[in-house]
Parts: sequence; structure tokens; C-alpha cells
Amino acid sequence: MRIVLLGPPGAGKGTQAQKLAEKLGIPHISTGDLFRDNISKATELGLEAKKYLDSGDLVPATLTNRLVDDRLNDADAADGFILDGFPRSVEQAEALKDMLAARNTTLDAVLEFRVSEQELLDRLKSRGRADDTEDVILNRMKVYRDETAPLLDYYQAELKTVDAIGSLDEVFARALRVLGR
Ligand code: ADP
Repeated sequence: MRIVLLGPPGAGKGTQAQKLAEKLGIPHISTGDLFRDNISKATELGLEAKKYLDSGDLVPATLTNRLVDDRLNDADAADGFILDGFPRSVEQAEALKDMLAARNTTLDAVLEFRVSEQELLDRLKSRGRADDTEDVILNRMKVYRDETAPLLDYYQAELKTVDAIGSLDEVFARALRVLGR
């Protein structure tokens, strides 16, 4: 299956993506993790991306799209993947459509993890990642509202919404149910 996960920062996408990937036997591709990995290894891409992660802004499309396109070339992604954190804008969604078309394929499902803003703030503040300070969190939420939320309409036809308030296992069970697994 080829699946995209949508949802605001703090919705628990990463954790659920990991569990879904294990269950479905497909790789979990997180652009945030790929950027952080590049930053910790001080690659050229990491050096360029760091200032955007530090401020909570989107890394420019040219860098991000190339990162994903390269990752989709890896053998483990040939038969399916869970994309977590990409696409994050309509522009990226168009780029993804082209990447999939070039591989003669399309998405099977888009899952939206839905959580209230207050719950998100509480969760993020207790997570403590380097970019989880209040200013940066508020900026990431604004970027989500402005850039990413329009994807809920863009993917209207394939969108399945999961209530992401509850225990990890509860949310996981809901996600599997909407995927028909
Ligand atoms: P969260 O879901 O908590 O916002 P992520 O790990 O998904 O965390 O993303 C962290 C940061 O990585 C973002 O704030 C952004 O700077 C960068 N990033 C991740 N994915 C993308 C993307 N698709 N396009 C541009 N920037 C991205």
C-alpha cells in the first residue's frame, strides 16, 4: 500500500506511522527524520535544512522533493510506503503525484489524524524535542494551517479521518480499521 499521513505537528503521526509500517511490512518514510538524520551527520543537505527546522518553517521544495524522490528509489519502497510529513503543501502534493506517475502508480489512501489545537500544544510542550519551544511550535502550527491543511481538500477523494485522541493502541486500531486491515 502507498499511504500518506496528514495531521498537525503533535498529532502522533510518527508513532502511528512506525506501527503501521511494521504491521503492513512497508517502510516508514518521515521527511522530518530524514532531515534530522542529515543534520546530525552534517551533510550538505543537513546544513541547508537546519535553519528551517530550527524556525519551524518548511524546507524549500527543491530540497524536500529531491530528498523524497531519492528515497522512493530505494528497493524497500518499490511496493509500498508510509509517507509521514510529506507532502506538506499543495505544491509538494503535485510533485508527489508526478513522482508516482513516473513510477506508474498512485496513492491508495490518505489518513488524516485529527486532534484539537489545545491537546496539540499540551502534547508538544511535554515532548521536548529541540524544535518544541513555544514560538517554534506556534509557527509550525501556523505553517500547518496555511500550507498543509489545504491538502485535506486536495485529497478529498482518498481522505480517511482518524480521531487521534486516545491511547496509542486505540488510535492504531482506528487507523487499521479505516484502511480495511
Ligand atoms: P512535526 O510533525 O512535529 O512538525 P516533523 O518531524 O514532521 O515534525 O518536521 C519537523 C520539521 O522538518 C518541520 O518543521 C520542517 O522544518 C521540516 N520538514 C519536514 N517535512 C517537511 C516537508 N515535507 N517540507 C518541508 N519541510 C519539512
